[in-house]
Amino acid sequence: MAVPLLDLVLPQLCAACGHRGTGLCRDCRRAADALRLPDGEPVRIGPAVMAVAAFRYDGVIARAIRTVKRPGHHAAAGHLGTLLWTEIGDAIGGASRWPRTWVPSTRSRLRHRGADIPRLLAGPGAVRLLRRVRQRNDQTELTAGERRALPVGDFRSGYAVPPHVVLVDDVRTTGSTATAAASALQGAGAARVLVVSLAAVDPPRELPQVVS
Ligand SMILES: [Zn+2]
Repeated sequence: MAVPLLDLVLPQLCAACGHRGTGLCRDCRRAADALRLPDGEPVRIGPAVMAVAAFRYDGVIARAIRTVKRPGHHAAAGHLGTLLWTEIGDAIGGASRWPRTWVPSTRSRLRHRGADIPRLLAGPGAVRLLRRVRQRNDQTELTAGERRALPVGDFRSGYAVPPHVVLVDDVRTTGSTATAAASALQGAGAARVLVVSLAAVDPPRELPQVVS
């Protein structure tokens, strides 16, 4: 693979420790192994919505994610995305070939960070299927048809959504953001959504169902 021109000019720094490295340096990559979640620790977060994560949100992974969210520091997120798919590929099996989209950031975060981190994690082949919208409060004057066309939570699709979708996020905490985003995809035609996060905060220890 060709080395991007910028990499020749500016040495890349490890997103977790700041030493020289691409994405994560060798030491931090080794430290990340201790944070790996076996088989992505799948959990059900909604009807026909499963969620997996590659790592526990802690240590070098938490530091790396915090780094790429800082203004102007998003460059390493693409490398963290490569790490994500390397780690989670086997666990999600056939779903690794499903079309990928991402949980879009709010407009203010996008402005602050300079990039949509989940989009960078999803990789260059990902397609935009969601938009972030403001919640409308007054729905009493609307017809039933107008109400159906309303966005689900903070998200709206409005795109041609395939039946199976991988939805990428950086960190899963309660899962409520991913659930709202997945619902919007389902409202636009997705039958099954698999949420893939780089890291999860305190994931449950049980494995309720294997992702196929
Ligand atoms: Zn490092």
